[in-house]
Amino acid sequence: MTYEIEKSDAEWRAELSPEEYHVLREAGTERPFVGEYTDTKTVGVYGCRACGAELFSSETKFDSHCGWPSYYAPLAGDRVQYIEDVTMGMRRVEVRCARCGGHLGHVFEGEGYDTPTDQRYCINSISLTLKPTTG
Ligand SMILES: [Zn+2]
Repeated sequence: MTYEIEKSDAEWRAELSPEEYHVLREAGTERPFVGEYTDTKTVGVYGCRACGAELFSSETKFDSHCGWPSYYAPLAGDRVQYIEDVTMGMRRVEVRCARCGGHLGHVFEGEGYDTPTDQRYCINSISLTLKPTTG
């Protein structure tokens, strides 16, 4: 699997904080309810913290009460990549940044949330950078 942005582990370690590296490059998960964007309502676009690719809009962010920022759709389908994840004894779908391969979180569906897609993109705050819309 190749990405538009390819960097060595040493380069990523130099650019990212240890916590960012752990989540983005080692598919870690930040603790629930502590991420900086969990309850954020600011209007804007969420970009990949590793490469800056625009991934999610505040328009699709909703209150899932799950402890992580949740979106019902990505900004565009090809901005993210889906990978089947069978760790932790269950089948989940991992969501990665399609530009750099950075781990973002997981997507779940059919949970009954009142959203247009019935999907929940459960994303680590630390994988994202919010660019507020000005004007
Ligand atoms: Zn990225």
